[in-house]
Amino acid sequence: MINKKITALMLLAAMSIASLTSCSGKEEETEDTTTAPTTTTEATTTTEATTTTSAAPTRTAEEYKAAGINELNSIPILMYHRIYDMKNSDTEYTGGNVDKDGYNRTAEAFEADLRSYYQQGYRMMRLTDFVDGRIDVAYGFSPIIITFDDGIRDVVLQGWNEDGSPKFDPSCAIGILEKIKAEFPDYNVTATFFVNDQLFENGEENDRKVLKWMVDNGYDIGNHTKDHKKLGDCDANEIEKQVGYVYKKLESIIPGQYVNIVALPFGSPEKMGEDKPQYNKIFEGTYDGFSYTSRASLLCGWTRAYAPFVRDYDKTCIRRIRGYDNNGEDCDIEQNFKQLAQGKRYISDGNPDTIVYPAEDNSSGTWLKETFGHQAIAY
Ligand SMILES: [Zn+2]
Repeated sequence: MINKKITALMLLAAMSIASLTSCSGKEEETEDTTTAPTTTTEATTTTEATTTTSAAPTRTAEEYKAAGINELNSIPILMYHRIYDMKNSDTEYTGGNVDKDGYNRTAEAFEADLRSYYQQGYRMMRLTDFVDGRIDVAYGFSPIIITFDDGIRDVVLQGWNEDGSPKFDPSCAIGILEKIKAEFPDYNVTATFFVNDQLFENGEENDRKVLKWMVDNGYDIGNHTKDHKKLGDCDANEIEKQVGYVYKKLESIIPGQYVNIVALPFGSPEKMGEDKPQYNKIFEGTYDGFSYTSRASLLCGWTRAYAPFVRDYDKTCIRRIRGYDNNGEDCDIEQNFKQLAQGKRYISDGNPDTIVYPAEDNSSGTWLKETFGHQAIAY
């Protein structure tokens, strides 16, 4: 009989030294500012088939170890902008970069990115589920989240099919996503599109219909502010207008079906800070009689995001990876995924109700911030 003991720690908060490798390879050491947890209760259970609750460990410690299960690790949230109908050889820049800084990407490179993530064992999940701490990815696989800012050239409408569905340019972002979705049903293809006032530039009436189709077909729409201003430089009234306007507009088109998450234009402000009370308007306000709240905000990309259970996770400045090439340097896709592969990668236990992690692996972290009501299982 396998009677491997697994300690299930029901932690309200377990704090320790945190060290996550930044994209530049530098260690980010964070001082432990709290004392040892005072409210830890330990329960011992086994992995026998008789375990009854859904939150109990379903595998032995050896099995978790062999699969590298670690849910106190990092998750790549890709930040893309425009996808252009180009081959990599059509651009004068590195790899699939369409511009010097690689904010825009060729269709060839974007499709290759999606295939590569799949081959590396990543499976897509919704950003809104990430914010909710609900990570439902098959055992042994890793979550990946795809986001687009600005909306331009991401959803290019060519017309409407007879059944009323949109006909997309196959080289635009959603055209490529739909192709990959059909090819890999277990990839769980999804993405969040952060829009400004101009939406996708297919004309207001077309875009309203497209938005409805998108939310009915597994995509999410978020807030990238009305005019794409640096919110870090705006006063409270302006922030309320910039954020509230887009929520009000989305509410009129897809009521209750958009996500209350802001992708901060230019990644600004980088930190919320108590000395900047106007930034609270990103998260709560009223514009033109419409009251809104935001659950999270995203920075501009450079590196992987902490899982929402990790102590250093901050929902007001969630980090992203810029989808660009730079010969494996300066936080490009290649460098980030190499670092993820070297022990920084979240690998799922397949159960969204449990947080499973190696008890002795302080390199990837055994520091829980919040369990979201899940059971934490150290092995
Ligand atoms: Zn933008």
